[in-house]
Parts: sequence; structure tokens; C-alpha cells
Amino acid sequence: MSRTVYVNGDFLPEENAKISVFDRGFLFADGVYEVTTVIGGKLLDFDGHMARLKRSLGELDMNQPAEIDTLLEIHKRLIEENSLVNGLIYLQVTRGAADRDFAFPPEDTPMSVVLFTQTSDPTKSKLSETGARVIVVPDNRWARRDIKTVQLLYPSLAKMAAKKAGADDAWMEEDGYITEGSSNNAWIVTEDGTLVTRDLSHSILHGITRKAVLKCAELLQMKVEERPFTKEEAANAREAFITSASSFVTPVIEIDGNSIGEGKPGPTAGKLREIYMEEALKTAV
Ligand code: PMP
Repeated sequence: MSRTVYVNGDFLPEENAKISVFDRGFLFADGVYEVTTVIGGKLLDFDGHMARLKRSLGELDMNQPAEIDTLLEIHKRLIEENSLVNGLIYLQVTRGAADRDFAFPPEDTPMSVVLFTQTSDPTKSKLSETGARVIVVPDNRWARRDIKTVQLLYPSLAKMAAKKAGADDAWMEEDGYITEGSSNNAWIVTEDGTLVTRDLSHSILHGITRKAVLKCAELLQMKVEERPFTKEEAANAREAFITSASSFVTPVIEIDGNSIGEGKPGPTAGKLREIYMEEALKTAV
């Protein structure tokens, strides 16, 4: 059955949803996006995703396309129209359509706003049970990874490299340190049980799930260090895991062919996954 998607003010069957070939998202990757997970028909961490959207737009001198309340209504209507129980809503905002020119079009050019749903169930992910194997690749992305732009070619290449190597995902490395996963934030648990994840900067995306898991760690009175770590430190860690809106907390059991800890999902990642889901459902809208 065809989905209902949202395009620039209209709710349409997906086959009738159209965007201009002059759209700057298409020509220049001049746009930003958010992915919000839906569980039981409710949006997880919605406020966090909208706060980051606002920040991404601001960093690129783009206007907010609509009030947050309006965006929430659009999300809710898509959930309803598509009878979405578990899955995600993808939201993309671009600088709109204009003759191809590197310089931005006039300020009053209408932005393009697209939202669509996808079905999936992160509560039943296989990788959360088996653990993920990652390879390490150089971080060849641009230097403003804190802005959630639609230019995802390098992360796609990194995922393909992982697939080719028989692994599940790639972690990226720069100046000898892991930055983050291809579509998630990277964490390790040291021998003394300390959680380590890279500190916020322009080098990584400021994950909404990362922030929520830091709160869970505080609730559980776990020791946390926000600092870079190396591939070697990860290989010698007791546990490792990734966080993202669509994978929650997923254990990582192998890095570049080296087993991490006992080579199976560990208790810290398991506990954080459980608490994260509990907490996220409390504030779901
Ligand atoms: N880093 C990158 C590069 C990502 O693409 C994502 C997923 N959007 C994340 C981290 C995790 O962010 P979030 O927890 O907000 O999904």
C-alpha cells in the first residue's frame, strides 16, 4: 500500500509527491534532516530532535520552516494516516529550488519541507542481541559534522566498506582517534567500568540518544568520561556500543577483527539499552 507523505504543505500518496529538479537539496546537498523514532505510535525524544533541527538550520543561515508545534502536528498526522506503530519519521528541510548557483537564492525563496514514514522495529533489532562487528575507516567527511546535513555519501561509502569486509558497520578515525560511527555515536566501557564517549565539538554529530544515554548513566551512577579514545583502547575495552535514534543502544563486539571483552554483548550496554527505552517512553509524545 502506498504511504502518505508530506511535501511542502500537502499530504499526498507517495507516487504523487514531487520535488523540483532545481531543489538545492538535490543539487548541492543544501539541506538538513532529522530522524525521529516512533514506538507504539509515539515519537521518542521529539523535543531533542527539533532543538537540533533548529541548531542545524541556524548554522547554515536557514530559517525555521515552521513552528515546532506545526511540525509536531505534521508528524502526528503522518503517524495516523499511515497507521504507523513502530518505525521512524524522516524530516528534510532544504534551501528550496532556484537556478543552479553556488550563492544562496534570495531569502524569500520557499524552503522545501518533506516528511515521510518508514516501518521498522528497533525494539526487536537482531544486532542488539548478537552485537555488531565494526571496521575502522578514515573519517573523510567535511569538518562540520555537528550540522545534520543531507550529504551522507561518505557514511554510505563507509557502510559499504563494512559490508564488503563482512562487518556490520564502520567507525571513523581521525588523527589517531575514533570520531563516531557511520550513523551513530561510539562508546566504550573501560576495565574499571567507566563509560567513555567523545566530547562534543564540530567533529561529531551531537546525538540525541547520546545525550539521553548520558542522563541514564547519571541515573545509574556510572562514571563517565567525555573524551576521544583510540581504536586500540576500544579493542582492549571491556565493552563497546553505539547509540542512535534508530538503534537505541547496540553492543559492539568486534573492532577490525579483534574481539572486544568477551566477544559478546556485555551487561553495561544491555542495562543502558533497557533504561534508555524506559526513560524515552516516559517522555514520548
Ligand atoms: N552520528 C552520526 C554521524 C549520525 O548519523 C547519527 C544518527 N543520526 C548519530 C551520530 C546519532 O544521533 P541520534 O542519536 O540523534 O540519532
